[in-house]
Amino acid sequence: MKFVNHWINGSRVDGDSRTAEIFNPATGEVSGKVAMASVADVDAAVAAAVAAFPAWRDASLVKRARVLFRFRELMDAHSDELAALISAEHGKVHSDALGEVARGLEVVEFACGIPHLLKGGFSEGVSTRVDSYSIRQPIGVVAGITPFNFPAMVPMWMYPIAIACGNAFILKPSEKDPSASLLMARLWQEAGLPDGVFNVVQGDKVAVDRLLEHEDVKAVSFVGSTPIARYVYETGTSHGKRVQALGGAKNHMLVLPDADLDLVADSAVSAGFGSAGERCMAISVVLAVDPIGDELVDKIAERVSRLTIGPGDDERSEMGPLVTEVHRDKVASYLDLGLSEGAKLVVDGREVQVLGGGKATDTPGFWLGPTVLDHVPAGSRVHTEEIFGPVLSVVRVSSYEEGLELINGGEYGNGTAIFTNDGGAARRFQNEVEVGMVGINVPIPVPMAFYSFGGWKASLFGDTHVHGAEGVHFYTRGKVVTSRWLDPSHGGVNLGFPTNK
Ligand code: NAD
Repeated sequence: MKFVNHWINGSRVDGDSRTAEIFNPATGEVSGKVAMASVADVDAAVAAAVAAFPAWRDASLVKRARVLFRFRELMDAHSDELAALISAEHGKVHSDALGEVARGLEVVEFACGIPHLLKGGFSEGVSTRVDSYSIRQPIGVVAGITPFNFPAMVPMWMYPIAIACGNAFILKPSEKDPSASLLMARLWQEAGLPDGVFNVVQGDKVAVDRLLEHEDVKAVSFVGSTPIARYVYETGTSHGKRVQALGGAKNHMLVLPDADLDLVADSAVSAGFGSAGERCMAISVVLAVDPIGDELVDKIAERVSRLTIGPGDDERSEMGPLVTEVHRDKVASYLDLGLSEGAKLVVDGREVQVLGGGKATDTPGFWLGPTVLDHVPAGSRVHTEEIFGPVLSVVRVSSYEEGLELINGGEYGNGTAIFTNDGGAARRFQNEVEVGMVGINVPIPVPMAFYSFGGWKASLFGDTHVHGAEGVHFYTRGKVVTSRWLDPSHGGVNLGFPTNK
């Protein structure tokens, strides 16, 4: 049985004796144990990062970039191995795991441009013989706390940029699928990153709370559910830290009657059931504007009936299991809830056949097939709550305005999409919708690495999105220097407020 421990100062460390079980979601069996950090373990990681920071901060931009280039090559070469680790603990299919590695690598590639990204501004002669320039400097030790659903990509939203900017980083991955973090740590070392610049502490609330309180941790990036994101934001900022905390989501796809319904059905099924719906950018609600509802639901149901559900390491599988039994049961409970709220169950994921097994809920492992609920009442719990599983709800609306109002009235504002062939309607939507990431005929509008990722409302606490220019901003502090090299003849006391002359 594997034992996943911490990575501190360039070595694997067992730390405290507390552990938790790791499962194989496809079989339901325990596949290993993960260390759960104590306060002392976190303190050891912070101390290693504090010690490594000054030399790394002083490494030249080009030297830092070269480590990133090497890390990029190593990650690419090990992407299959990384994907297999992810699939074995998360449950997602191998091709999907490879996809998350590829999207994470794009952030590494962006961070390779750090010499350019950290160029400041310079103004000659802001006053007589006075020049001004701006520089951005690393903040020190920074932490990233990440969710189970992207054990490689979400950490890679954070650490390539934090490290490229000259910070030392501590990752606290999800305890549900921790193995990817140790492979990434080893590859950093192989790439030539000095020990202590990248550390991993495994664990739960104990580790998170210590990172939030520790005075040597200067900034915290968090991605996870909304209640924890709010808690991390409030606790971290009350301890004087810079915090960006990304939360949950309930993403709507608004379908206007002029849309190409085959494209819509393909997109809704891909975005609703990819990774078993355990994506913060998954589409979980389709808003079908009258009169297309019946035709669209038929097309969606037909496509869902052709999906293959099975273990992530079986090439035939298109959708894997859910991450834990508790989570599967919670997601499945929304089916009966939906029925009690007046929805119609068009496809019942409990009945879906699993490759090599039987009916989803009778097969060992954490299975639930793709589920489609139609006529979900607007404002019902199934419509508004984040389910985070393979449950696609269709809500019928009579107009664009009614659909927009439902999106803007929701608690979350992570992603959304409009499907239409009317450019004017799409433009109005992009302007009026209160959501951070918007797709136009694109169901999962995840921004590229050189833009920044983040939602609005309860999907993000703090004002900085992750990666792209905002990531560079988050992991650095600005400084403006005003300099004057005097003529020997110039001088004189002046108690007035400095204004330019
Ligand atoms: P989670 O909130 O349960 O856990 C996230 C992290 O917080 C983990 O590292 C976990 O160990 C830690 N944690 C859990 N409970 C804690 C507590 N009480 N105190 C301190 N730390 C705690 O989230 P999850 O189930 O791992 O991930 C799924 C959630 O993440 C969904 O809500 C999803 O929408 C969200 N998510 C959001 C984004 C985004 O970009 N907005 C991206 C991915 C996932």
